[in-house]
Amino acid sequence: MKAGTNHRYDAIVVGGGPAGSAAATVLAMHGRRVVVIEKEKFPRYHIGESLIPYTYFPLKRLGVIGRMRKSVYPKKYSVQFVSMDGLASHPFYFFQHLDHPASQTWQVVRGDFDLMLLNNARDKGAEVLEETRVVELLRDSVNTVIGVRAETKKGRALEFHAPVTIDASGREGFSLARNRWRVPDPKLDRVALWTYYRGAVRDPGKDEGATTIAFLPDKGWFWYIPLPDDVVSVGAVAQSDYLFRDTRKLEAIFEREVGRNKWIEQHLAPGKRIRAPGSSDGPFYLTREWSYRSRHCGADGLVLAGDVLTFLDPVFSSGVFFALKGGELAADAVHAALAAGDVSARRFREYGETMSRGIESMRRLVHAFYDPEFSMRQFVTRYPPLRGDVTDCIIGNVFRDFTRLFKAVGEFARLPAAMPCGGPLNS
Ligand code: FAD
Repeated sequence: MKAGTNHRYDAIVVGGGPAGSAAATVLAMHGRRVVVIEKEKFPRYHIGESLIPYTYFPLKRLGVIGRMRKSVYPKKYSVQFVSMDGLASHPFYFFQHLDHPASQTWQVVRGDFDLMLLNNARDKGAEVLEETRVVELLRDSVNTVIGVRAETKKGRALEFHAPVTIDASGREGFSLARNRWRVPDPKLDRVALWTYYRGAVRDPGKDEGATTIAFLPDKGWFWYIPLPDDVVSVGAVAQSDYLFRDTRKLEAIFEREVGRNKWIEQHLAPGKRIRAPGSSDGPFYLTREWSYRSRHCGADGLVLAGDVLTFLDPVFSSGVFFALKGGELAADAVHAALAAGDVSARRFREYGETMSRGIESMRRLVHAFYDPEFSMRQFVTRYPPLRGDVTDCIIGNVFRDFTRLFKAVGEFARLPAAMPCGGPLNS
């Protein structure tokens, strides 16, 4: 049947990024009738190219590890840190900590990767409607979400009905904006400015696909992420006052910052700047990175997954992992709620608490990273047995207890109070 011709479903998913595709795939695998409504035509350009090791587990559940292994994506075995004077740390090899195939992950081109995930959702039985924007949540007389109103690119109005809607609309935050649920994390207010190069230097052997984090003044940093076709994604993240202190010209800002880190300068030197693969804009891209949490993870008939639930500064490349894991767990919660015949908000509490616990571990490490008093090297030198805990957090093994780690980190850095867990409204 053509997608969207029968508008009654078990679940509706808003957005076909990693969170939406994961949720739709898992629901379809549970035998549920699910539709994904996506405003763009895939493949579409998206930032967020570096995966972390624990992404392996949701990808395995979705059934795409074989395709990842056959892909052309550079294999990522490690992350390394480069000081302001251009000296690289010893790479942090994940296999030294994790004896599992997950210890090798990938650097992906998000247009292709997201299309592969969306097609996988289709293959598993989900219906997918592209170039259709969700414009409104439909509610019944007691305010339970019972579907969505959408509009095709050609302006045709459509209505979809289902007992549950999963909002996976990313940082656009479909239900955040409408409900004023966005709670900012003001200390993580940064700007990212990035571009792409072809022909820049790649490190040899196992380090060819490594992520490099290279420092700038005031705890700013560059990412350097090797992609297929000899392309690298390279971006500077810093506070807005720092980046825009003497000009608003993106090229001038970017070049000024490249000149501040010898490693980045030398690696980019033989390369040629290009537009992002699959993008018609560029060659410079800019976004303000307000980290935030949603005040609620859902409501009666509504669940949030992925960036719409939380966006966290990308220094540890955790976004796609949390999006896939969130989509997977949200789908399980929705499946159980449908089976129980009760899609009220309280059914999504456990999901919200689990996600919040995992995200909070990563968030505390991100806050430590930006603290002027904190240095990862000094920390692991003082507390060698905690190196494993730090690594667990960085690779995404975040749904465990880190009390011991953060008690020690707290001696070096001011750690934030936990953000509200984002429990569901009305529960
Ligand atoms: P998205 O991938 O944004 O997908 C949401 C989808 O919803 C989009 O396709 C959109 O078109 C659609 N949509 C939105 N509104 C509607 C609507 N009303 N109707 C229909 N469709 C709609 N993460 C990493 O893992 N590694 C990194 O290295 C990394 N680097 C980053 C660097 C920067 C500068 C930034 C800003 C983010 C980075 N991230 C990174 C984070 C990563 O991009 C996100 O966490 C990830 O894309 C979240 O997936 P998602 O499915 O929640 O949202």
